[in-house]
Amino acid sequence: VRGPLISIVTLSVALLASFPRAQGTLPPASPTLVPPSADPRAIVIDPGHGGDDVGARRMGSDEEGTVEEKTLTLAYAQRLRGAIETRLGLRVILTRDDDRAMTADERAALANSHKAMLFLSLHANAAPSPTVSGAEVLYAKFDEARDDAPSDALRPLEMIPWDRVQARHIDTSARVAAMLEETLRARVTMGPHPVQQAPLRGLVNLNMPAAIVEVGYLTNAEQAALVPTEAYQALVVDAIAEAVDRFRNTVDQSAP
Ligand SMILES: [Zn+2]
Repeated sequence: VRGPLISIVTLSVALLASFPRAQGTLPPASPTLVPPSADPRAIVIDPGHGGDDVGARRMGSDEEGTVEEKTLTLAYAQRLRGAIETRLGLRVILTRDDDRAMTADERAALANSHKAMLFLSLHANAAPSPTVSGAEVLYAKFDEARDDAPSDALRPLEMIPWDRVQARHIDTSARVAAMLEETLRARVTMGPHPVQQAPLRGLVNLNMPAAIVEVGYLTNAEQAALVPTEAYQALVVDAIAEAVDRFRNTVDQSAP
């Protein structure tokens, strides 16, 4: 009972936090329906999986130990938070800071309530073939059958279906993904699809530029040994921090 209860409370708090003006004061009259402005100093880092959802895993021998994606993503996220806060001076919000289950909607509600300038989700990959290896970057893709609708980038936020909120940020998300691919490629081996678009449930509800970094393939023996190491973590964290810094500068320049 405890798990779901905590999840509901967390979600309620996140939802309440996204409507801070609803309590007591009236919202200011807005002549245009522009979305609430993003906080250029806040970034959400999302360690994939957690709790019962362990994600990809490699069953090792007693010596090697078992490698679970949910543990790796949290370690990477905590390390990345340190790098971004100290080197870039940005505020980092983790969707989870311990081993707990969270739904995609809970993660999105939390991220949206903080109006962060960027959402980065961290994962480790798995493939049927053990030879597939390398880091990869993903961003959202939307059903083209609905592309005859008015452009989401031009529509008022409240008229966009909840599951298409990310569509208005898709060009920026593509830029973020390209920056991540570039900074990762300079440090680590890239996978067969270095940057790809996919209809990802975890990204569609996000009202900010967003991308997923798959740090490596746990189904590849060499990478399953490499990905948990301090040295590899440091390379990936460096790469992501550099991409965030580049992206932050483009956001600052377009700000008034
Ligand atoms: Zn994953």
